Amino acid sequence: SFNFCAGPAMLPVAVMQQAQQELLNWQQQGCSVMEISHRSDSFIAMAAQAEQDFRDLLTIPDNYKVLFMHGGGRGQFSAVPLNLLQPGQSADYLISGAWSKSAVAEAKKYGNINALDIRCQSDLGLRSLVAPEDWTLSSDASYVHCCPNETVDGLEFTSLPTTDKTIVADLSSTILSRPIDINRYGVIYAGAQKNIGPSGLTLAIVREDLLPAANNTIPSVLDYRLAAENDSMYNTPPTFAWYLAGLVFKWLKQQGGVTEMATRNQAKSSLLYDFIDKSDFYHNDVDLAYRSWMNVPFFLADDRLNDAFLDQAEHHGLLALKGHRMVGGMRASLYNAMPIEGVQMLVSFMQEFERVNG
Ligand code: PLP
Repeated sequence: SFNFCAGPAMLPVAVMQQAQQELLNWQQQGCSVMEISHRSDSFIAMAAQAEQDFRDLLTIPDNYKVLFMHGGGRGQFSAVPLNLLQPGQSADYLISGAWSKSAVAEAKKYGNINALDIRCQSDLGLRSLVAPEDWTLSSDASYVHCCPNETVDGLEFTSLPTTDKTIVADLSSTILSRPIDINRYGVIYAGAQKNIGPSGLTLAIVREDLLPAANNTIPSVLDYRLAAENDSMYNTPPTFAWYLAGLVFKWLKQQGGVTEMATRNQAKSSLLYDFIDKSDFYHNDVDLAYRSWMNVPFFLADDRLNDAFLDQAEHHGLLALKGHRMVGGMRASLYNAMPIEGVQMLVSFMQEFERVNG
């Protein structure tokens, strides 16, 4: 079967098989990796290798720390203003969909947040974004926060704001799906449960000069400096998730890294979008320029057929296609672990469902 869940999402089959084999006896130690101390030499070596592989995959420069944290994407919604905003300072937040909007609500608890809603409708009535040159950023913001791939809305943008301010990006649902230039960002964060590994682990890539001052009042588990100084082991990290993420990074390297992922992700998503666009039975309402490679929402012309569609899809081994409750319809998430065969099967199923019900 193929799991189209937006997160926690499917992981590469080869990775799951290896994890299963090693579950009870990791590195011939007679116990599981989740049962050993995070202070043991073997765990520390594994953890360091995972970090190195992640750095290699995204070509992360030496002046950036990679932090393996707790608390998910929402934990970072708090961590970012707590670490980056000094009293009296403000930050700009671009709203491109549901997740960036949630980030604003959280950040407002800690500082002066200037929210810029960049959502709009295209001339054709499709969901779209205001052109980047029309994003009016404030001159005194400490940083500009954005969410380049909106998981719920199925909307992705690749041109970052043109600004000399620090850019902070929530890449939870697009990290490792294509190459990015890390130097353009001050902080990147991502919950693991889509393109990285199990939930419970959150990665933050933080440029060193942005680490907060020592002796601050930030809750310790969200403090970038403490995490950096303690190699992400100030408290017990999510050890099993870290191990599994390490396996995913190795798998990604074997597959050809993020350049290869970009080729595959583009091919997978075009296959689905092209099919939807040619059909009158299905449609997607996102402007072509902003369609997400990772999350493809789509609707049936007759939504009374939704339940039948989902039932029959599941029967064919096509799982978790129900759309987000805020959007309705269907959503197919096509993260790195989804093979093209899964998308081909989905398209064949959709074709057949249309033939019978159209
Ligand atoms: N940001 C984005 C883009 C997401 O897709 C999600 C979850 O789906 C979150 C943040 C929230 O992540 P978490 O549930 O790990 O707090």
